[in-house]
Amino acid sequence: MGLTNSSIGIRAIDSGLEIKKQTPDDKVIALAGNPNVGKSTVFNGLTGMNQHTGNWPGKTVTNAQGFCSTKSHSYVLVDIPGTYSLMAHSAEEEVARNFICFGNPDAVVVVCDATCLERNLNLVLQTIEISEKVIVCINLMDEAKRKHIKIDLDTISQRLGVPVVGAVARKKKSLSDLMDVVDKVTDGSIKPTPLSLRYQKEIEEAIAVLEPVVNKKAGGKLNSRWLSIKLLDQDQSLIKEIDSYLGADFLRDGDLTEALDAAKAILAKYQLTLDQFKDKIVSSIVAEAEKVCLGAVTHEKEGYHASDRKIDKILTSKLTGYPIMLALLALVFWLTITGANYPSQALADGLFWVQDRLTELFQYMNAPDWLHGILILGVYRVLAWVVSVMLPPMAIFFPLFTLLEDAGYLPRVAYNLDKSFKRCCACGKQALTMCMGYTILQLNFGVEGNPCMTSSYFYKDNLPPPKKAHAFPIGFSLSDRTYKISP
Ligand code: GDP
Repeated sequence: MGLTNSSIGIRAIDSGLEIKKQTPDDKVIALAGNPNVGKSTVFNGLTGMNQHTGNWPGKTVTNAQGFCSTKSHSYVLVDIPGTYSLMAHSAEEEVARNFICFGNPDAVVVVCDATCLERNLNLVLQTIEISEKVIVCINLMDEAKRKHIKIDLDTISQRLGVPVVGAVARKKKSLSDLMDVVDKVTDGSIKPTPLSLRYQKEIEEAIAVLEPVVNKKAGGKLNSRWLSIKLLDQDQSLIKEIDSYLGADFLRDGDLTEALDAAKAILAKYQLTLDQFKDKIVSSIVAEAEKVCLGAVTHEKEGYHASDRKIDKILTSKLTGYPIMLALLALVFWLTITGANYPSQALADGLFWVQDRLTELFQYMNAPDWLHGILILGVYRVLAWVVSVMLPPMAIFFPLFTLLEDAGYLPRVAYNLDKSFKRCCACGKQALTMCMGYTILQLNFGVEGNPCMTSSYFYKDNLPPPKKAHAFPIGFSLSDRTYKISP
């Protein structure tokens, strides 16, 4: 029997996700993490699947699931979208938060990047505010070693109050070490006691007023301290989810609204606006992450970080960031649009040579015109045409974009453009989907015209080639290829 939407409050999770257990005893493990920390590698290594979730908008934001088992348990692993925080500023963050919060996972594994652990701990700290059963998997330990970064896993684990496992996701042994700890956490032989994040005095005062009431009313279904902070935060997307998870009566409860008003009055007394409240929450998390890493993450090579930061500064500063970004994107587009002409031409030559031979074969067999029309001028020719036009640019564009993503440059493009895009009520990450859109547009409405508009000529005999008709959008023309079958 699998869990159903309603049994795990699935309305709160991304639409349509149903946890499919193979047996009722299967434990559900959520895999969370920042983008590019090797989360998919861990997921694929454990489940034997081949899943990759992109980190830019336009890609479906869903929770993929797979199965794995150890000697003690069998698990459903749910790969939630890569995200930097659970503050629900984007669809990914909302889906991730909702699953950790309302999906009732038996444990949450937060995969971190060992080479920038402090930044990754922001997500860990937010996760342990919601759930107790958290395991931190510090991946890319080989990269950290290569960069002379030393991580004291025991100290990090003591400070966070949850198990911490070092891993190299590409190695099976690391993953079995991780699953040993997951076994112990899910069967209760390890009981995490997560660090409780403390905020500034005025925020703590407000929480102290609200939390006891939230605790009473939420009936232990959600972490009351975290829920109190979120109610003060007035996180609308969460309030909607709480409505469906705890029932509409929860938020309309007289005692709760009274306590919430009293807590808000405390914030007002300290003249703390909503934005300042949010900023203080974030800065406390960042400061805590720094504290956890202090002395436990050491760079054996002096100046290592300095060179990293220098590159970052160059890539994201106003003066150099934009020209580098424009130059790199121009290079990608040039390689895609112009560079693809050569393989496109070669492919078209090959495929249309085959078409000529097929036409000769049909003539030799005295096949009727209509059959030749349907099979060769219809099916084969259109297919050959689409393949020659679309395949080479795609085979150039996507690997180039993947390279830029894996090198960590795309998040910097998103960062550079975020401010300008925000002015249009969008976000920087949308620049990446726009780039893809631009490429597709170039392919369809490119250099000489839209092939879709002129393709009717491909189906007709004896038509004079129209001006610039049959043009391949990426630079070469098929106008000399009008066919007539001899009677
Ligand atoms: P995700 O975005 O978090 O799902 O990250 P991916 O699983 O796609 O991994 C990002 C990149 O890191 C890929 O090129 C992986 O092959 C690589 N990777 C993942 N784990 C490790 C690891 O432990 N060591 C090294 N060196 N590379 C890894």
